[in-house]
Amino acid sequence: MTSIGIMGGTFDPIHYGHLRAAEEVRQGFQLERVVFVPSGRPPHKAIDEVTPPEHRYLMVELATADHPHFEVSRLELDRVGPSYTFDTLLEFRKVYGPETDLYFITGLDALLDTPTWKNYPEMFKLADFVAVTRPGYDLSALDTLKATLGEALFKKIHPFPVTLLAISSSDLRRKMREGESVRYLIPDAVVKYAEKERLYLD
Ligand code: ATP
Ligand code: MG
Repeated sequence: MTSIGIMGGTFDPIHYGHLRAAEEVRQGFQLERVVFVPSGRPPHKAIDEVTPPEHRYLMVELATADHPHFEVSRLELDRVGPSYTFDTLLEFRKVYGPETDLYFITGLDALLDTPTWKNYPEMFKLADFVAVTRPGYDLSALDTLKATLGEALFKKIHPFPVTLLAISSSDLRRKMREGESVRYLIPDAVVKYAEKERLYLD
């Protein structure tokens, strides 16, 4: 049985919090690979507040290029309209068939938000979900989610503690806007790309 990880996100920009979580889940769940899926149009974020998708996609490419088991998908970029995880998982199911185990990786913050996502009860039937820890979020918060989702859907969620890295894209964007260094929080190639393209300056 093949197992594949899927790491969705806005990645505006991608940072070591994303990369390290993906790596620890890859090892822990013995995944053949992890596919990063940058969102085309995140449904929960205002469009004018998000960096154009091609920039975010390229930064994910740069950050993952040297990992033989990391891949990047254009699926959500090439689809019109908002990027819903339900649609993405449906597509992955179509491509990989019922024999592949799909593990959708999310931080606890994102997971707690899932009852607002499109078709979420159906979404949980399409894949397993790995809930990685993130500073500021406690695994006990999952109790509330369990009450909302019910026993059957909640079984699809696998809590998974990872090295806690207090890094967020919002904080990185603020740092860059204010001229602060972001070195050692993001891969060098991504820092260089953001500087060259003059991203996050205003
Ligand atoms: P923003 O601050 O703009 O929301 P972010 O840092 O949360 O950015 P996203 O692209 O929103 O990054 O997150 C994509 C996925 O990665 C989400 O499931 C999120 O919970 C997870 N994630 C982000 N940062 C971390 C981190 N430091 N540790 C663990 N998981 C993380
Ligand atoms: Mg986020």
